[in-house]
Amino acid sequence: MNRYAQEVFDEIKRSSHDQPEFIQAVAEVFSSISIVLDKEPVLKKERILERLVEPERIIIFRVPWRDDRGEIHVNRGYRVESNSALGPYKGGLRFHASVNLSKLKFLGFEQIFKNSLTGLPLGGGKGGSDFSANDKSANEVMNFCQSFMTELSRHIGANTDVPAGDIGVGGREIGFLFGQYKRIKNIFEGVLTGKGLSWGGSLIRPEATGFGISYSTEEMLKTKKQSLDGKVVAISGFGNVAWGTVQKVTALGGTVVTLSGPDGFIHDPDGIKGEKIDYMLEMRGSGHDSVADYAKKFGVSFYQGKRPWNIKCDVAIPCACENELDEIDAKDLIKNGCVCVVEGANMPATHTAVELLTKNGVLFAPGKAANAGGVACSGLEMAQNSIRLNWTSEEVDQRLHQIMVRIHNNCLEASQKYGTPGNYINGANIAGFQKVAYAMMEQGLI
Ligand code: GLU
Repeated sequence: MNRYAQEVFDEIKRSSHDQPEFIQAVAEVFSSISIVLDKEPVLKKERILERLVEPERIIIFRVPWRDDRGEIHVNRGYRVESNSALGPYKGGLRFHASVNLSKLKFLGFEQIFKNSLTGLPLGGGKGGSDFSANDKSANEVMNFCQSFMTELSRHIGANTDVPAGDIGVGGREIGFLFGQYKRIKNIFEGVLTGKGLSWGGSLIRPEATGFGISYSTEEMLKTKKQSLDGKVVAISGFGNVAWGTVQKVTALGGTVVTLSGPDGFIHDPDGIKGEKIDYMLEMRGSGHDSVADYAKKFGVSFYQGKRPWNIKCDVAIPCACENELDEIDAKDLIKNGCVCVVEGANMPATHTAVELLTKNGVLFAPGKAANAGGVACSGLEMAQNSIRLNWTSEEVDQRLHQIMVRIHNNCLEASQKYGTPGNYINGANIAGFQKVAYAMMEQGLI
C-alpha cells in the first residue's frame, strides 16, 4: 500500500476497529489505487482518502411497529449517504437480521465506485434495518415498511437520495415504502427504484443484476477466446441476483448446476432451466429461506449445511452474501479446473480466496464491476421517470448490455494502464475511484 493510503488505513483500523467488513472493503480499494496515489500527489494534498472514507451523512433511527397480535416491536433503521459527487445518493435497502453499521458502511463505500463505473449520474449510499421479513405476515411487513419510511422520507427525494431493494427488500417492500412516501410528502416522484411497472418501474429491472453479471462473464471469457456456451456454471444463492443470472447464463448456452440457501445447496447436473427457474420464484415467495424444497421437487441431491464450491464447474458465480467463498473453496475451484469466478453478490470472496484465485490464473471479477447491472438499470429507471416515458424491454436490455461491456472495457483498460493487465479488481477500483476523486476536487472542499 502507498504510504499515504497506509496512514489513512491505520487510522481507520483504529477508529473503526469494530467494523470489520468496512475495513476489509477499504483495504481492497486502497491497495488497488496505491499506484494512482503514487503518481498523483494532488490526491494526498486534497486529502481525498480521508474525505472518501467518511460518509457524508449517516442517519440512524428507531422503527417501532405492531405485529398481528398487537405487540409492539422496535428495530433500528439506517441510511448511510456515502458520496454525492456524481449524483444523488443511490443504493439499496437491506432488511435482514444481520444488518449493522459496519455492513452498511462497507456496502455504501463499495456503491460509490460501482455507481461511478456505470457511467451514469449516481452517487453512492446504502441503508436498511435489522428486520427480517421471513417469519412475518404481509400485514406486519407493511406496518414495518410504513414506519421505516415515516422517518426515511425526511432524508430522501428523487434528486437527493434514491434507495432501491437489496437482500430482503423486493417489489412488495418497495411498493409499501413508495406508498408511504407519497402519502407523507404528497409527491409522486421517482424516489425509489425497483418500482412496479404500472407506477414508474422499468422493464428488466428485476432481472438486471443477473443479466449484467452474465454479460460481464461473457466479456471476460471473450478475452480468453471462450464464451458461456457449453460451460458448467456453479451459482450460490437463490434470490433475485441468482434468478436473473440463471436465466441469462442459460440463454447464452451455459448450464447452471447449483443453487444455495442458508440450509445448504442443491446439485442439478441436468441444469436449472425452464420450469425450474420459475420454481426459484416460488421458493423465494414461500418465505422458507431454504433450497431443500428444490431437491425434493426435482429429485436432485441436497447437501445440508454445505456450500457449492466443491462441485466441478468451469465458472463460479457467488450470488448470496459477503465472505461466502473462502480459501478452502478457492482451492477446490482451482483443483476442479474452474476458469472464471464472478462476484454476483457484494464482496462474497474473502481476501485470501481472491489472492489464491488470481495467482492461479483464474479470471476474477469483483462485485462492484460485475453486479453493477442492477444499479445501472435503476439509473435507467430514474431516466425514464424524469422523461415520464417507459422504454421497451429490448431498449432497456440493449442499454444495460452496452453499459456492462463499457464497464468491462474500462476496467480492463485501467488494469493495463496501471501495470496489472487483466486484474479486474485493480481496474474496477482505479476507474471507479478516479472519476469520483476528480469530481470531488472540482466541486471544492466537499
Ligand atoms: N442493491 C443493489 C446493489 O447492490 C441495487 C442498488 C440500486 O439499484 O440502487 O447494487
